[in-house]
Amino acid sequence: MQPETILIICAHNDDQIIGMGGTIAKYAGQGKKIHSMFFSLGELHVALFRKDIIAKKRYYESKKADQILGATSIEYLGLPDGKIAEAISERGREQMKQLILQKIVQFKPEKIFTNATDDSHPDHRAVAKLIQDLIDEKKIQSDVYVFEVWHIAKLKDRHLPKLVVDTSDFFKKKIEAFKAHKSQKLVYLQFIWKIYLKDRLNGKKHKGKYAEVFYKVN
Ligand SMILES: [Zn+2]
Repeated sequence: MQPETILIICAHNDDQIIGMGGTIAKYAGQGKKIHSMFFSLGELHVALFRKDIIAKKRYYESKKADQILGATSIEYLGLPDGKIAEAISERGREQMKQLILQKIVQFKPEKIFTNATDDSHPDHRAVAKLIQDLIDEKKIQSDVYVFEVWHIAKLKDRHLPKLVVDTSDFFKKKIEAFKAHKSQKLVYLQFIWKIYLKDRLNGKKHKGKYAEVFYKVN
């Protein structure tokens, strides 16, 4: 039997760590193949260096984070951080959708994880909207789940079916992967408590120590 395949499509390389790092580590431990596609490397957050140097650094950092979690492959589409919606329009919406569909055909994922359409970050919404379009056009057969990135408060309209993954045994790995983004260290250190709090609250609600929660949109 072929191992189950997971495809993660998100705006920035750290979205997946924050939103589902524990789940990635858990799934990898179960032998699942996990492929990620990032629209941008989040190079905007660091003002001290040239953007191209930061992008390169962040590429290696996300490879390292991926290694820690045990994921299979990453791909970086090179769209500018903070301007993903504009870049999608420039490159052509249909072309970008085709690119995503090609990946889906290549990997045949059982599950796709992506950003949420009601996320407060415009980059996250831009990526989520592309996937939602493909769902509306009935071009995606796989189950699709969305995750939140920074919010502790619940997203709107979450009457959708939930997927709760108990990540108690993998929370440490998630933090380790998060810390692998060394170029972001100062920014990230301020946020670790948020990850801790969110995963801990989700864990408590679902009778575990830590948990990550996803909503099924397809
Ligand atoms: Zn992001």
